[in-house]
Amino acid sequence: MKRKNYLYVFWTALMLLGMSWTVISCGDDDEKSVGKGAQQVAELQALLLDENGRLSFDGMGDGTYKIGLLSKQDAIDLIKLYVGSGFTGQARTFALDDNKGTIDVAIGDQGVFYSVGFMVEGIPQFRLWLLDEGGNSLGVSHKCSVCGFTWISTINRCPKTGDKKYHP
Ligand SMILES: [Zn+2]
Repeated sequence: MKRKNYLYVFWTALMLLGMSWTVISCGDDDEKSVGKGAQQVAELQALLLDENGRLSFDGMGDGTYKIGLLSKQDAIDLIKLYVGSGFTGQARTFALDDNKGTIDVAIGDQGVFYSVGFMVEGIPQFRLWLLDEGGNSLGVSHKCSVCGFTWISTINRCPKTGDKKYHP
Protein backbone atom coordinates (compact mmCIF):
# COMPACT_ATOMS: atom_id res chain seq x y z
CA MET A 1 0.00 0.00 0.00
CA LYS A 2 2.73 2.38 0.92
CA ARG A 3 4.47 1.82 -2.40
CA LYS A 4 1.23 2.58 -4.29
CA ASN A 5 0.95 5.91 -2.49
CA TYR A 6 4.44 6.86 -3.59
CA LEU A 7 3.54 5.98 -7.15
CA TYR A 8 0.40 8.12 -6.91
CA VAL A 9 2.43 11.11 -5.72
CA PHE A 10 4.99 10.47 -8.45
CA TRP A 11 2.40 10.40 -11.24
CA THR A 12 0.56 13.40 -9.82
CA ALA A 13 3.82 15.35 -9.84
CA LEU A 14 4.51 14.29 -13.44
CA MET A 15 1.02 15.33 -14.51
CA LEU A 16 1.37 18.74 -12.87
CA LEU A 17 4.73 19.19 -14.59
CA GLY A 18 3.13 18.23 -17.89
CA MET A 19 0.31 20.70 -17.36
CA SER A 20 2.69 23.54 -16.60
CA TRP A 21 4.64 22.82 -19.78
CA THR A 22 1.38 22.86 -21.71
CA VAL A 23 0.55 26.30 -20.32
CA ILE A 24 3.99 27.63 -21.27
CA SER A 25 3.88 26.24 -24.79
CA CYS A 26 0.41 27.75 -25.30
CA GLY A 27 1.89 31.13 -24.40
CA ASP A 28 4.62 30.65 -26.99
CA ASP A 29 2.02 29.97 -29.69
CA ASP A 30 0.58 33.50 -29.41
CA GLU A 31 1.69 35.48 -32.45
CA LYS A 32 2.00 39.22 -32.20
CA SER A 33 -0.40 40.60 -34.79
CA VAL A 34 0.64 43.63 -36.82
CA GLY A 35 -1.34 46.67 -35.65
CA LYS A 36 -3.56 48.56 -38.05
CA GLY A 37 -1.42 51.68 -37.67
CA ALA A 38 1.74 49.79 -38.60
CA GLN A 39 -0.02 48.43 -41.67
CA GLN A 40 -1.05 51.96 -42.70
CA VAL A 41 2.57 53.11 -42.32
CA ALA A 42 3.80 50.20 -44.47
CA GLU A 43 1.32 51.06 -47.22
CA LEU A 44 2.34 54.73 -47.14
CA GLN A 45 6.03 53.82 -47.26
CA ALA A 46 5.37 51.70 -50.36
CA LEU A 47 3.58 54.62 -52.03
CA LEU A 48 5.87 57.48 -51.00
CA LEU A 49 9.38 56.04 -50.78
CA ASP A 50 11.61 54.57 -53.44
CA GLU A 51 13.60 51.36 -52.99
CA ASN A 52 16.32 53.33 -51.19
CA GLY A 53 13.89 54.78 -48.64
CA ARG A 54 13.94 58.26 -50.20
CA LEU A 55 10.82 60.26 -51.07
CA SER A 56 9.97 59.55 -54.71
CA PHE A 57 8.98 63.12 -55.60
CA ASP A 58 10.86 66.15 -56.89
CA GLY A 59 12.20 68.19 -53.96
CA MET A 60 11.89 71.98 -53.89
CA GLY A 61 13.80 72.51 -50.61
CA ASP A 62 12.54 73.10 -47.04
CA GLY A 63 10.91 69.67 -46.95
CA THR A 64 8.54 70.53 -49.79
CA TYR A 65 8.08 68.21 -52.75
CA LYS A 66 5.94 68.41 -55.87
CA ILE A 67 4.15 66.35 -58.46
CA GLY A 68 2.30 67.69 -61.51
CA LEU A 69 -1.15 66.34 -62.34
CA LEU A 70 -3.59 66.88 -65.17
CA SER A 71 -6.76 67.47 -63.17
CA LYS A 72 -8.16 68.07 -59.71
CA GLN A 73 -9.81 64.65 -59.90
CA ASP A 74 -6.39 63.05 -60.43
CA ALA A 75 -5.20 64.87 -57.30
CA ILE A 76 -8.19 63.59 -55.31
CA ASP A 77 -7.61 60.04 -56.56
CA LEU A 78 -3.97 60.19 -55.48
CA ILE A 79 -4.82 61.61 -52.02
CA LYS A 80 -7.37 58.82 -51.54
CA LEU A 81 -4.48 56.36 -51.71
CA TYR A 82 -2.86 58.20 -48.77
CA VAL A 83 -5.84 58.85 -46.50
CA GLY A 84 -8.48 56.39 -47.66
CA SER A 85 -11.51 56.42 -49.92
CA GLY A 86 -13.37 58.65 -47.42
CA PHE A 87 -11.57 61.71 -48.81
CA THR A 88 -14.13 63.87 -50.58
CA GLY A 89 -11.92 66.75 -51.72
CA GLN A 90 -12.41 68.89 -48.60
CA ALA A 91 -9.50 70.11 -46.46
CA ARG A 92 -9.10 67.83 -43.47
CA THR A 93 -6.54 66.31 -41.11
CA PHE A 94 -6.45 62.53 -40.99
CA ALA A 95 -4.97 60.60 -38.07
CA LEU A 96 -3.38 57.21 -38.52
CA ASP A 97 -4.29 54.44 -36.09
CA ASP A 98 -2.14 53.67 -33.03
CA ASN A 99 -0.73 57.24 -32.91
CA LYS A 100 1.39 56.60 -36.00
CA GLY A 101 0.97 60.17 -37.23
CA THR A 102 -1.19 62.58 -39.19
CA ILE A 103 -1.75 63.64 -42.79
CA ASP A 104 -3.22 67.07 -43.29
CA VAL A 105 -4.82 67.92 -46.60
CA ALA A 106 -5.11 71.63 -47.43
CA ILE A 107 -6.54 73.33 -50.49
CA GLY A 108 -3.66 74.84 -52.45
CA ASP A 109 -3.17 78.34 -53.76
CA GLN A 110 -3.29 79.16 -57.43
CA GLY A 111 -1.63 76.47 -59.51
CA VAL A 112 -1.70 74.02 -56.61
CA PHE A 113 -4.65 71.64 -56.30
CA TYR A 114 -3.72 70.44 -52.82
CA SER A 115 -0.92 70.68 -50.30
CA VAL A 116 -0.58 67.52 -48.23
CA GLY A 117 1.53 67.49 -45.06
CA PHE A 118 2.87 64.14 -43.88
CA MET A 119 3.90 63.65 -40.24
CA VAL A 120 4.10 59.88 -40.17
CA GLU A 121 6.35 57.58 -38.16
CA GLY A 122 8.96 55.93 -40.40
CA ILE A 123 8.62 58.49 -43.22
CA PRO A 124 10.56 61.77 -43.50
CA GLN A 125 8.33 64.67 -42.52
CA PHE A 126 7.42 66.51 -45.71
CA ARG A 127 4.79 68.46 -47.60
CA LEU A 128 3.65 67.44 -51.06
CA TRP A 129 2.28 69.95 -53.53
CA LEU A 130 -0.07 68.48 -56.10
CA LEU A 131 0.36 70.98 -58.92
CA ASP A 132 -2.05 71.87 -61.67
CA GLU A 133 0.12 71.26 -64.70
CA GLY A 134 -2.64 70.27 -67.07
CA GLY A 135 -1.79 73.12 -69.41
CA ASN A 136 1.97 73.03 -68.90
CA SER A 137 3.89 71.12 -71.54
CA LEU A 138 7.31 72.05 -70.12
CA GLY A 139 7.47 69.27 -67.53
CA VAL A 140 8.31 65.66 -68.23
CA SER A 141 5.04 63.83 -68.65
CA HIS A 142 4.78 60.14 -67.79
CA LYS A 143 1.90 57.79 -68.46
CA CYS A 144 1.67 54.52 -66.55
CA SER A 145 1.42 51.53 -68.83
CA VAL A 146 -0.48 49.61 -66.14
CA CYS A 147 -3.16 52.05 -64.93
CA GLY A 148 -2.96 54.86 -67.46
CA PHE A 149 -2.37 57.52 -64.80
CA THR A 150 -0.48 60.55 -66.11
CA TRP A 151 1.83 62.74 -63.99
CA ILE A 152 4.52 65.36 -64.51
CA SER A 153 7.79 64.76 -62.70
CA THR A 154 11.41 63.73 -63.22
CA ILE A 155 10.50 60.44 -61.52
CA ASN A 156 9.15 57.78 -63.84
CA ARG A 157 7.68 55.42 -61.23
CA CYS A 158 3.88 55.62 -61.21
CA PRO A 159 2.82 57.37 -57.96
CA LYS A 160 -0.08 54.92 -57.63
CA THR A 161 2.06 51.79 -57.69
CA GLY A 162 2.70 51.30 -53.99
CA ASP A 163 3.59 47.69 -53.32
CA LYS A 164 1.13 46.41 -55.89
CA LYS A 165 2.39 45.22 -59.25
CA TYR A 166 -1.03 45.68 -60.79
CA HIS A 167 -2.28 48.85 -59.15
CA PRO A 168 -5.55 50.73 -59.50
ZN1 LIG B 1 0.02 53.24 -62.57
